[in-house]
Amino acid sequence: MRIGIDFDNTIVRYDDVFYAAARELDLIPAEVVPTKAGVRNHLRAIDREDDWTRLQGYIYGARMELAEPFPGVLDFFRRCVAEGVDVCIVSHKTRTPYLGEAYDLHAAARGWLEAQGFFDPGAIGLAPERVFFELTKDAKLARIGAETRTVFVDDLPEFLAEPAFPARTARILFDPNGAHDGDDLPFERAATWTALAGRLLGAPVHAG
Ligand SMILES: [Mg+2]
Repeated sequence: MRIGIDFDNTIVRYDDVFYAAARELDLIPAEVVPTKAGVRNHLRAIDREDDWTRLQGYIYGARMELAEPFPGVLDFFRRCVAEGVDVCIVSHKTRTPYLGEAYDLHAAARGWLEAQGFFDPGAIGLAPERVFFELTKDAKLARIGAETRTVFVDDLPEFLAEPAFPARTARILFDPNGAHDGDDLPFERAATWTALAGRLLGAPVHAG
């Protein structure tokens, strides 16, 4: 089993961060739905697409410390490393935001992984070179193929449905908010990291 995992909105949960940062910058009224989609939909509805783009750069570049790991994802990686399962992170991320300050988004993302203990042998112990931030979607697809993943987990059905998606890699949609309930999708879905651990790693092995 060679597992590949997406980064944004698969490992990192941003919902509360978008609402908090948008309120802090006075971009939205308090009654907006307090999720990433809620903030995006509001800014689009009032024709503030550029504010939405700048907000993303600000969060991904300057406020990553506010973002949380999805429940169970740190345990999932800890188990992979402890049980010798080949796991890597493959993400598509531009080096700097499209608009606004030129934050280094790759450095911010690696800093977040480090702060969460991903690279600490006493916590998770993932090798830093098992994390790939690719500049384009095509490069992400190529990396998944080059790393010959058995399975890849991503939150975007349109990415998993790419014609260039490696044919030998099984696809699992991570859908924590049930956004794709009832959609007719040609791949498995998982709503939690506990479910993914059961599906991909099996029951935990208890020592003693
Ligand atoms: Mg993602």
